Amino acid sequence: MLEEGPVDFGEGVEHNMTDGRRPLIAGNWKMNGGLDAVDDLAGALAGHMASLAAAPVFDMAVCPPFPLLPMIGAAIEESGVLLGAQDCHAAAKGAHTGDTSAGLLAELGCRLVIVGHSERRTDHDETDDLVRVKAEAAQAAGMAAIVCVGETEAERDAGRALEVVIGQVANSIPAASTAETLVVAYEPVWAIGTGKTATPDDAQEVHGAIRTALAERFGGNAAAAMRILYGGSMKPGNAAELLAKPDIDGGLIGGASLQADDFWAIAQAAG
Ligand code: PEP
Repeated sequence: MLEEGPVDFGEGVEHNMTDGRRPLIAGNWKMNGGLDAVDDLAGALAGHMASLAAAPVFDMAVCPPFPLLPMIGAAIEESGVLLGAQDCHAAAKGAHTGDTSAGLLAELGCRLVIVGHSERRTDHDETDDLVRVKAEAAQAAGMAAIVCVGETEAERDAGRALEVVIGQVANSIPAASTAETLVVAYEPVWAIGTGKTATPDDAQEVHGAIRTALAERFGGNAAAAMRILYGGSMKPGNAAELLAKPDIDGGLIGGASLQADDFWAIAQAAG
């Protein structure tokens, strides 16, 4: 049984999860997008949302680079599109040149923060422990953490995909997580930005294993309400078959989130 009644997933956004998990389509812009993205991308998405005849049955979020957050936030205000960030520091404040606190992100209107993306795990040597405390910082600031996990191609080829992913789930996810404060994103590293996508069956196998691990840790009810996104070259042409799988509750989308029409088409596949 899923949780009854409305679930508050951020200021003013209530979701009734009684009938199942509400899909989340989140765009990770990475280090892309300039000032032109305010109108071309965020404004266009707000326009798409406004064109809906009925309230959307999915959540949509954009995670632009830090400096764009206030402007993108203004462009999507009251559109229903949620604002998210791509990272946060683990500490609440202090001498951390170049970093951004979760508290400031929340003040800027972010409802979500991506942590543990494979590019940060690789480029910045982020460990499971660091990812977990960043997720805790995001949650403590009142946001949901999108915790990314995923195996490399070598790990998959060695038959270790499930072991690696479940290990990351165990060590990167805060103990106090709930369906309102946690989203898991399964992103096979070999599929990110490569055009290679996990087959829907392979992705479902991992998503199912993640949900089982979440159930063992947080209980069946909580795990049943937690959203598990797929990420890795999701596009309009493959979104529907991935999203049709029972444990794939949305997408974390990189490249295809940079074109408003493609991103919207993926969201349509979720609805
Ligand atoms: C990502 O970076 O989170 C991602 C899934 O990228 P892409 O969609 O471009 O593979």
